[in-house]
Amino acid sequence: MKKAILWFRKDLRLSDNPALNEAARTHQLLPIYIKSNPDRSNIYQTPGEASSFWLQQSLINLNEQMDHRIHVIDGDPDKIITALCLQYQIQYVFCNRTYEPWQDNFDKQLETDLAKKNIAFKQFENSRLLNKKLIPKTKQGNHYKVFTPFYKNYLSSLDHHFQPPVSQPKNINWLTIKIDNLTQANYQPWQKKLLSHWQIGEKAAQNHWLDFLENNLQSYHLSRDYPAKENTSKIAPYLHWGEISAKQLYADLQTVPNSEGKEQFIRSLIWREFNLNLLNDFNCFHFQNWQKKFDHFPWQADRELFNLWKQGKTGYPMVDAGMRELWQTGFMHNRVRMITASFLVKNLLIDWRLGQAWFWNCLLAADIANNSANWQWVAGCGADAAPFFRIFNPVTQAEKFDPTGDYIRNYLPEIAKLPTKYLFKPWQAPKEILEQADIQLGVNYPRPIVDLSLSRQNALNAYQQLSK
Ligand SMILES: Cc1cc2nc3c(=O)[nH]c(=O)nc-3n(C[C@H](O)[C@H](O)[C@H](O)COP(=O)(O)OP(=O)(O)OC[C@H]3O[C@@H](n4cnc5c(N)ncnc54)[C@H](O)[C@@H]3O)c2cc1C
Repeated sequence: MKKAILWFRKDLRLSDNPALNEAARTHQLLPIYIKSNPDRSNIYQTPGEASSFWLQQSLINLNEQMDHRIHVIDGDPDKIITALCLQYQIQYVFCNRTYEPWQDNFDKQLETDLAKKNIAFKQFENSRLLNKKLIPKTKQGNHYKVFTPFYKNYLSSLDHHFQPPVSQPKNINWLTIKIDNLTQANYQPWQKKLLSHWQIGEKAAQNHWLDFLENNLQSYHLSRDYPAKENTSKIAPYLHWGEISAKQLYADLQTVPNSEGKEQFIRSLIWREFNLNLLNDFNCFHFQNWQKKFDHFPWQADRELFNLWKQGKTGYPMVDAGMRELWQTGFMHNRVRMITASFLVKNLLIDWRLGQAWFWNCLLAADIANNSANWQWVAGCGADAAPFFRIFNPVTQAEKFDPTGDYIRNYLPEIAKLPTKYLFKPWQAPKEILEQADIQLGVNYPRPIVDLSLSRQNALNAYQQLSK
């Protein structure tokens, strides 16, 4: 049997793994994962702290599935692969594609370099619902820049061209090298906290997904906007690291009856596809405004306000609860992401790229396409963005989407005793109510760091300057 390297990247799973399936048919496999950071000036070339932690746990799980055979190596992929090929007389490298803006060029270069050494580089599509060639385009042959027509055409393409996922190969012939370079680390307190919220790995991803399918999908459209209901799938980190494939999700969705929940969920998955296309078309998406006119936006570089936002100490409970959820769990509910992001960009006038970088560090599923597209969407500078004048009001949003206050109370125990009427705006509570709830504003819970209507007006003025 010929020997090949199986290079895991954002596909930390054995089922529906096209590179593995193809390679396992005719090759003995040396599985590897390479931790590399070619450009240290670009933070997006390395996962943030939370996401790195997920990666490490996921590799530990994958390694166990493979009876401790995966080589995890730090360094330059070209040098590592060449050295391994030489050491084990290997002439093939199999991997699945990833979608970072620099990856295609990097892979092309690698393929050329390896070819010179008689090593074949074989790459497969990985984490998208449809293969690249089948993604619908406009009449002019471009990617869609507006979501709704893209969504409609994508659905129809899925109807015609969806290729079902492939199951795990029955026989995988690993090169019989057992190594132990992956061990459970001594966890930091924040990592232990994350572990108390999540089960990580391929098996966990499957169980987590099936549980959602059975218990929450039907009502997804009704409750996905209410953070206290915890009704969304929380599949994002599994999808990001490829512990489950998007195709697997879509195929499983075909086995359950049609419902509004299902329709809405598929729509969410297609947002992910849309953002991947945007990133493909504009590979500076993670640091440049899609709409050039925003290049002149008068952002305020206020470190102090930015730090208060990061710590969840803005004095606006919905914003603070969201930022604490992010810090404690590595996740934040989508509705609350929009509220916290809007607050940063519009009420504090702080550049969306700073917020994006904080999310990058704290989100378990920090993802270049989704993070950039959504930050630009909220900031109003993206492709199919919310208009700039749409400024989320954290008080009315909380009244609407956390009407019982359960979400806020969960993450802000210091104000949990406030009656719901004042929970969303503690500064309006009478003195005696604050006393009864053991709250001293400015001492154990902050006063609002900006005035909502004044800051809203400032944002609108800044934007109008831009439009002139
Ligand atoms: C400011 C901001 C930053 C974000 N950063 C990220 C990020 O780094 N990584 C990330 O995966 N998502 C990001 N999102 C999108 C969205 O918030 C998350 O995908 C979602 O909350 C993940 O939770 P879930 O898996 O329970 O989602 P569900 O509601 O169960 O949706 C299922 C899947 O559909 C996709 N999806 C849902 N909503 C969106 C969306 N708006 N855009 C793109 N895909 C979507 C995701 O893959 C998600 O896992 C961001 C949103 C905002 C507003």
